[in-house]
Amino acid sequence: MVEWESLRAAVSAVTLSAGSDRWKWLGSGSGEFSVAAVKRSIVSSRDFSNRYVMKWSKWVPKKCNIFAWRAEMNRIPTVEALEKRGMFLFDDGCKFCNEGLDSVTHIFTVCPIALGVWERISFWCRIPRFFIFSFKDLVEIHKFGIRSSVERKAIHGIVLSACWMLWKARNNLRFNDKKSSIEEVFSEIMVVSFYWFKYRVKKGSFEWGDWCKFVNM
Ligand SMILES: [Zn+2]
Repeated sequence: MVEWESLRAAVSAVTLSAGSDRWKWLGSGSGEFSVAAVKRSIVSSRDFSNRYVMKWSKWVPKKCNIFAWRAEMNRIPTVEALEKRGMFLFDDGCKFCNEGLDSVTHIFTVCPIALGVWERISFWCRIPRFFIFSFKDLVEIHKFGIRSSVERKAIHGIVLSACWMLWKARNNLRFNDKKSSIEEVFSEIMVVSFYWFKYRVKKGSFEWGDWCKFVNM
C-alpha cells in the first residue's frame, strides 16, 4: 500500500509532451554527465530511490552479501513478508522461541538465538557495545569503536556470515525440523568464516588460534 501510494505520487507529477524522448543524467545537480559525478554517486550511501545502500564485504561469498542486502530491505521470504504479499500461512510464529513473529526484525535482532549468537560474537571480537534495534544496525556495527581497518573488515564479514547462518538454521528448523543450538550456530560461523578470511584476505597465512583470539589480523 505504501509502495502503491509512492508510485501514484511519482506518476501524478509527470506531464507528457509531444516531443521525442531523450535521456537525462540525474547524477549531478547540473544535469551534466561526468565521470566524477558517476564516482560520487557510486560511493554515496544513498541511491536514487533514497534507499539505504549496504556496504558489501569482499571476503564473504556473494550469497551472504546478497542475503543481507535483501534482508535489510525486508525482501527475504519470512512468514511476515509472505503474508504481506497475500499468502496465508497457518504457522506464522518463530520456530526458535515460539514467541515472536517470523520476521526479519525478530529473527535477527530479538529472538533469543540471535541474541545468544551476537553476544558470543561481541565477546569473541571484543565489541563492547553491541546494541541492535534493526537489521541495519547489524550491517553497520563494524563502523563503531577504535579498530584497525582489517578488524573492521573482519567484523563486517563475520556479521554477514552470521546472518546467513542464522537464516540457514531458521530454514533447517522450519522445513526439516532440525533444531540448532546457539553454540552450534556460533561454531559454524567461526569455522566457515575462518576459511573465507584465511584464504580471501590473508592469502593462506593465518592460523585458527589467531582467529579464535581475534588477533594478528
Ligand atoms: Zn524467536
